[in-house]
Amino acid sequence: MELEDCQSEKFATRIIGAKFKKEDAHGAISMPIYRNAAFEYPSSEAIANAFQNKTDSHTYSRISNPTVENLELRMKIASGAESVMAVSSGMASISNTFMALAYAGSNIVTSPHLFGNTFSLFQFTLAEFGVEVRFVNTDNLSEIEAAIDENTCAFFCELITNPHMEIADLPKIAAITKAKGVPLIVDTTIVPWCGFSAKKHGVDIEIVSTTKYISGGATSVGGAILDYGTFDWSKSKKLAKAVSNNTSMSAFMYKIKREIARNIGACMDSETASLQALGMESLELRFERMSQSAYYLALYLSENSKVKRVGYTKLESSPYKKISDQLFPSNPGAMLTFNLATKQDCYRFMDRLKVIHRATNLFDNKTLIIHPESTIYGTFTPEMKQVMGIEDNLLRLSVGIEDVEDLKKDILQALAF
Ligand SMILES: *Cc1c(COP(=O)(O)O)cnc(C)c1O
Repeated sequence: MELEDCQSEKFATRIIGAKFKKEDAHGAISMPIYRNAAFEYPSSEAIANAFQNKTDSHTYSRISNPTVENLELRMKIASGAESVMAVSSGMASISNTFMALAYAGSNIVTSPHLFGNTFSLFQFTLAEFGVEVRFVNTDNLSEIEAAIDENTCAFFCELITNPHMEIADLPKIAAITKAKGVPLIVDTTIVPWCGFSAKKHGVDIEIVSTTKYISGGATSVGGAILDYGTFDWSKSKKLAKAVSNNTSMSAFMYKIKREIARNIGACMDSETASLQALGMESLELRFERMSQSAYYLALYLSENSKVKRVGYTKLESSPYKKISDQLFPSNPGAMLTFNLATKQDCYRFMDRLKVIHRATNLFDNKTLIIHPESTIYGTFTPEMKQVMGIEDNLLRLSVGIEDVEDLKKDILQALAF
């Protein structure tokens, strides 16, 4: 598969075979959970060296922890990133990233079609610190180009927008952001590393909510920031001064690891890291099964007369089919959306389901359904919902690993209202 061309072993083999950074004293086959808060040293000089980053060791688990570091190493192997930082949630990965890049008077260029809390972070939280958000239609490349100016700290988008199911043309956008000297930051939560290579498609900084695919079945909340080492930070107004730092980290990752993440304190805990490192071992297996089932159900739903429209970018009916095939060599993942005639029909359908679970979240082992307009976007005003493009007759399905024929039967009986 093309995703692997620079590494000799295939995805699952590389993850499962990943060595620990240091040999375990007892030969544990899985990384132990280091649940301790602090690490002790044999002398005052040794602890001083550790605090001054002269040694590659741990001092306090808010700053770094061996079990979390082991997960970061696996994510690095999975993605080909230059450096990785695990944090406490997907939102923590976005907020840490923008605390590092944004400043009063700067702006973020993005789509209004964003995960609800990301929208709220940009529109409300960061706005109070003097950061402007500029919403553009990401299908319109000249609009993106025109919105970027000397105070743009980043262009940000989601790999496939949710629930709209749009795909930004990353290779073309990467050419624009590169020419303008602005980092391209993409939230790729929707398709994991075994199905999409951020490195190959010009992404500078990748954001992942590891709560979703990585956690191995909704086991825990977590997030990650991945730096591909591709952006020239001397072009960043805020980070230009910090470009040389005597480490192998970029100015961005140095700022995140040595300042922002410590100060914000949204660290990943070791138990989460252990669960998620285990989740990564079955990632490709789960992704393949879920996304194949999602494609099958998307085709099936497309044929039902009660279903007005299906959103899945591999379908011929998707305006994003071409870019979808280009970015995702196998499948565009396990999430699909569909419209029924009315909101009332959506509620009726949901209430009749017996196998599929009514719950938020994505990429659990269980199949989940939600009505986004009344839940995830339930507290936004009607005007905001319009800006965000949220329809009230739309349902979102995250397809799990149950037998797909049972899922199909459940959908069929629930549609018979
Ligand atoms: C869930 C999600 C987030 C937020 O992640 P948390 O782990 O819940 O904080 C961000 N972006 C996308 C695309 C998501 O699906």
